[in-house]
Formats: sequence, C-alpha cells, structure tokens
Amino acid sequence: MYVEVILPVPLSRTFTYRLSDDAEVRVGMRVSVPFGKNHVYTGIVVGLPPMCPEGVEVKEVVALLDDAPIVRATQLKLWQWMSDYYLCPIGDVMKAALPAELKPEEGKGGVVREDFKPKTKTFVRILLKDELAQAFDQLKRSAKQEMLYMTLLDRSHALTQEKPDEVAQDELLRMTDTTSAVLKELVKKGLCETVEREVSRIDTGQFCIDNLEPLHELTEVQKVVYRDICQSFKTHMTTLLYGVTSSGKTEIYLHLMQEVIAQGRQVLMMVPEIALTTQLCYRLRRVLGRKLLVYHSKLSDAERVEIWKQMLSDQSDERGSVVLGVRSSIFLPFRQLGLVIVDEEHEPSYKQQEPAPRYHGRDMAVVLAAKHGAKVLLGSATPSLESWYLAQQDKYGLVQLKERHAGVSMPHIHLVSMTDARKEQRMTGPFTPQLLAALRDTLSHGHQAILFQNRRGYSPIIECESCGWTPRCPRCDVAMTYHKHTRTLSCHYCGYQTPWPAVCPVCGNPHLELAGYGTERIEDVLQQTLPVARPVRMDTDTTASRKSYEKMLQDFELHKANVLIGTQMVSKGLDFSEVQTVGVLNADSLVNFPDFRSHERAFQLMEQVAGRAGRRVGQEGQVLIQCSDVRSRLLHQVVHHDYEAMAATQLADRQKYGFPPYTRLIMLYIKGRYEDRTRRLAEQYAAALRQTFGTRVLGPEAPGISRIRNFYIQQILLKVEREANTLVVRQYLNAIYESMVKANNEMQKVVFYYDVDPM
Ligand code: ADP
Ligand code: ZN
Ligand code: ZN
Repeated sequence: MYVEVILPVPLSRTFTYRLSDDAEVRVGMRVSVPFGKNHVYTGIVVGLPPMCPEGVEVKEVVALLDDAPIVRATQLKLWQWMSDYYLCPIGDVMKAALPAELKPEEGKGGVVREDFKPKTKTFVRILLKDELAQAFDQLKRSAKQEMLYMTLLDRSHALTQEKPDEVAQDELLRMTDTTSAVLKELVKKGLCETVEREVSRIDTGQFCIDNLEPLHELTEVQKVVYRDICQSFKTHMTTLLYGVTSSGKTEIYLHLMQEVIAQGRQVLMMVPEIALTTQLCYRLRRVLGRKLLVYHSKLSDAERVEIWKQMLSDQSDERGSVVLGVRSSIFLPFRQLGLVIVDEEHEPSYKQQEPAPRYHGRDMAVVLAAKHGAKVLLGSATPSLESWYLAQQDKYGLVQLKERHAGVSMPHIHLVSMTDARKEQRMTGPFTPQLLAALRDTLSHGHQAILFQNRRGYSPIIECESCGWTPRCPRCDVAMTYHKHTRTLSCHYCGYQTPWPAVCPVCGNPHLELAGYGTERIEDVLQQTLPVARPVRMDTDTTASRKSYEKMLQDFELHKANVLIGTQMVSKGLDFSEVQTVGVLNADSLVNFPDFRSHERAFQLMEQVAGRAGRRVGQEGQVLIQCSDVRSRLLHQVVHHDYEAMAATQLADRQKYGFPPYTRLIMLYIKGRYEDRTRRLAEQYAAALRQTFGTRVLGPEAPGISRIRNFYIQQILLKVEREANTLVVRQYLNAIYESMVKANNEMQKVVFYYDVDPM
C-alpha cells in the first residue's frame, strides 16, 4: 500500500511512501516519514495511489499518527489551488493552514506535539443533608461560611431541583466576596465538595449569552436589497453589495445567515483583522449565540485546535454553523458551506504579505466557496476596483444600497486648505484653525471626534538644524521615527530601536528639529491646545494586545475619552453614536503615495473614516479634510461621496497604463546580502524572463525601501494579460527558475519568491 504525502519542505511536490497493508490510513491523516539522509518529517496524506512511481526508491512510513483525518478533502483541494496560483510550495500552504499544535514539526523524529490539554475549571457541588437546619447549625459561628452556603444553595437550585447544579468556584467566591479558605471550611464540614471539570476554551474565551435576541426586522429598502441579493445568487456565484456606510449591511448579512443555517449549511463571515471588534462580535453573538465561532489571530494555539476539532466533529451541534473570522479562517475544516460573506471586501489587509502563501483572503474566499458550491457576498461602501470591474462586466452580480439606515444623512465633507493657513501662519502644529474650531465646538457640546493620521509615532522626520543629519535605520534604508513616550527612535520596517540621541551624533548640535506629525505628537499638541479634549490614541503602538485595544474602544464608548486619534485602525467598522466630527489631518500623504492604487486607497480610507461621523438620526456629521490642494479631482470625488466617478476615472487610468484589473501582476523578489551581486543576479533573471515574456517584464528595480534587515532587495514585475492561461504562465516560470538555478549558483544564496497579485 502506498501513500502520497505533503511534507513541510520548500519543494512544490508531494512524496510517496510505502505502508503496511493492514494500516487503516485515510486521506487527511498525519504520518511520520523518513526524508533525506537522516531526517524524519511529519506530513499529511493526500492520496492513496495504487502504485508507486517508477524508478524511485520508496521508503517506509515510520508511524501513522491519527486514527481519523484531521483535514477534509476540500481543504486539501484548496491547498493545491493556492500552491498553484500563488506559486509557492504546498508544504508552505500546509504550514499556514494547520494550527501550530496540529502542525507537523520539521525534523522532529516523528514526535508530534501533543501539548493540547483540555482546560479544566473547579466547580463546587453541594452535598445536602437530610435536615437543612442541621447544616445551618454547623455554620452558626461564621457569618462568612453561612453566606457562602446560602449562596450555594441558591445558585445550585438545590431546593427546587432533583439534581443540583454545580457552581463555578471562582464565580461563587466572587459573588460572596469570600476566599477559598472559607470554602475549604465548608468542604471540611462535609457540606459541599469541589470537582475539576473539563471546560471548553471556546466558551470561556468567548463570552456567552443566555438570552438570544430576535433579528431586527429589515426596513422596506433593506428588504428590497435582500430580495435582490437572493435573486442575484440564482444567476451569479459571487455578488457585490455596494452599500454606503451605516446602511444596514450587517443586518442584511444576519438575515442571509439565518436562511443558510436553516438549510443546515454553514456560513463564513470574513472581516479584516482590525474590523473584528467586540462591537461586531457582540452584535452577532446576541442573535446567534452558540452557533457563532469567532476566529482571530490573537487566539492561543489551544483555542485554535479546539475550534478546529469542534468543526471536524460531525455532531449535529449547531455550534460553528457561523464562523466570524479573519483571512486565515478560510483554512478551517468547514463541513458544508452555503454562504461566504466578505465584509469590507476592499480592505488591502486581506492580502497576506509575509510569509508564503501570499494569498488574498477575499479571492480565496471565492475559491473556497466554489469548492463547496456556496454563494459569495462581497460587501463594501467603497468596493475594490477589481470587484467593481467584475460587477460592471456582469461576472459578479451587483446590488446597491445607497441610503443610510433610518434616514440618517451622509456626513458633510469639507476641504480645508493647509496652504492658506500656512501662508497666514495660522496653523497650530498640524491643525488648521477650522479643524480646531470644529473640535472645540463638538467637544464642548459633549459630542465626540475622531482624528485620522496615517503615521504613528511622534514625528516621522528628525533633522539636525546645522548639518542636516537625519537618523536612518542601520539595517534598512529608511528614516527612523521618533517616539517621545519611550524616548526612542524606531524603524517601522524591522522594529530596530535606539535611544533618542538628544544631540546630533555628527556635529554635536543639541537642536534636533522635529518635522512632521505622527499620532503621538498630534495627541500632545491637541492636549496642549484644547483643554476640553480627552484624547485616546489608537495605533499599533498602543494596541499591541487585544485587551488594550478593547479597553480603548470601551473608554471611548463610555465617554471617558472624547477624541479618538489613530491610524487607519480608526476607519474600520466602529459604530459610535456620538461621533459628530471627523478630521483627516493630512490628505496629501494619502493621495501622493507612489503606487498605482494610491488614489483608490485614499478615496476608500477617507470615505470610510468619514463614515464614522453622524451615525444617528438628528445628528449631522461633519468631516474636515486638511489638504494642500483643494482643487484636487480625487478630493472632490470624496466630498461628493462619488464612488462611481472615482471608479470610472481610476479604471480609465488603469486601462491606459496596463494595471489591474486589466492585467495580472506577478512580482518576483530576490533578496541577498550583497548589493552588487543581488543586482547582477536580478538582471540575469530579468533577461531570462524577457526571452519568454518580452515586454511584459519590467525591472529589475530596487523598491522604494531597498534594504530591509540588511537584505538588499530587487524586484522584477511581470504584467500578464488577464486572459492568459495561468497554468501555462506557471509552467514557463518554473522552467525559467530551474534553468536559473542550474546556470547560476548564486541562486542558492539568495531568497527568491513570487508575490502574485501584489497589493
Ligand atoms: P453597515 O454594516 O452598512 O455599516 P449597520 O448594519 O452597522 O450598517 O447599520 C448601522 C446602524 O443602524 C446599526 O446600529 C444598526 O443596528 C442599525 N440598523 C440598521 N438596519 C436596521 C434595522 N432594520 N432595524 C434596526 N436597526 C438597524
Ligand atoms: Zn548635526
Ligand atoms: Zn529597520
């Protein structure tokens, strides 16, 4: 008997091994196998071929590790698809797909980590005496013990139920404000006992709600949209829901979910990491209860395994019939998906950057759905031009929802010229007088504000006034950012940190000038200028843990803070009713970013932050966008919320210059220790590519940041026609790679990879 196995090695193929005939092996189980001279690897069985390939020596499987598959067949198909499309080894896909605790370990002699221990919790079980009075007799002399016993009687329902409930020890102690010493006394007296129970991490980690609420009834407008979506599902596998912010998309999703669950199928609702707030979880939990599983990147390994196992088990438990998750949730073992919803489908963070597979969560959601025969709904107030284009071509269905819920109006957007304010010397740090006045007005009326700046840290640029020195990261080719709170300079690419020098290390001048404003400095200036402001800052510096992030949102929700200052984190999915004013501090930095998507991105970001303003009836929201050029066409499209005009102008440009969605981009990366050798190799590689692909090859080029962590980077861009056969392109690329490896031993010394559909 033979098995075909995926191994965690960077080779784009599977391997065949022999197994004794009586082994009960199935596809999706783990096996340990010998590899190379003296390694033992663990891999996943993907096939049971009847024969072994000819002319190769087939080794014996060392151990079969499972008695049931841990991966479903559809998942394996998805892995293969990803490996092919994203041009990366299937072993890398496997590594990304499996939770660490299930993951085949490299090099470990067939030992699978089985640290996965069920979580236990202590419960208290009441032991009733025949005579209750007797029990109280024993407790006469201690008020604390008596109270504890009374509470236990009550909470366990011992007097009304045949079989009393067990009560969690920590809760019992918390309720009575007593210690475990008091409880011990009760145990000694034989009035109760403690027991260890296995509990689900999913329940303890994810709060539970006892009383489910019914869905909100959809408004007339929403009902029409709901019916349009159902209609569109009949003719299109994928439908784009273009609905303005706060129009009730989430409500519509919930109604669609109910429908699919009722048919016994599962739903995946995918959201970008930063949109996965407590607010959204709570909203879904309230109506879905135990049916909902939440899957995000900050779960512990044990929690991941538990969710994985839960979804593998075929119990008719409704749990997991809805998964709310981030991009990696496409890897979960779904039984039978009926619907995949991708919310905020335009979000660039759906694209995985590092490590491989560099996949796009939205696009993979569409592929995953196809493997299940499920429908896909892409939702956004500012759809990606890729999806918009496909909808225009009728490849995707298109449904529009153009008004906000309950007649709430779209916020008014004003452009404020920083050029004028600078000329008149009326800027207060990063603030124009108009923005300051609006903030003062909003905050003094007890409302709230959100300020958006796409730069964290205190000041992005420091310069010596006398010699012009600026600190640069020694490992990367970028200027470092000053962080006042920690008094450090930090590199936002590699994380390198060094203490703030105080005097210029070149000329000794003590006057180092700060130029530019990061979120930290904006917070500082705001506090100094507007006493009424109680800001809270939200960026990756302040939200390292999920808890701190939640805490911040809670503080803002409870009005402990009245201004939320942040990077693009603040643009996502937050639903605060009291936000009246939104300020974008510097639109230029968004618009002028050197990338073919910068205008699309700038529009989306501004429209999304603007959408945080005035989300309730009777409260006009206002948005102030500070910029240098108030005549900018793009900014006017933002002012008029004119997504369609933006899409039309941008698509025309994309077509003219041959960018997606009119072409498909593949970026090849070569990273090496030595600048000149890396460059030379990249030039050879590009020349080899040109022999096949001709003028579709651009570069090599060093990217804007040409060195990261001491690795010199060269990139080669390949633009292929949208209609080109991806299989053929892949075969050519593989052949060119093989020939490069044969011809040039430098290839062994560099990092080489592809980024397909780079963002
Ligand atoms: P979107 O997802 O499009 O941004 P939401 O679904 O978050 O919009 O809706 C915005 C606000 O309006 C939410 O607070 C939501 O609860 C409320 N809302 C939307 N539709 C309804 C409805 N049919 N009934 C009651 N409340 C609704
Ligand atoms: Zn100097
Ligand atoms: Zn660096």
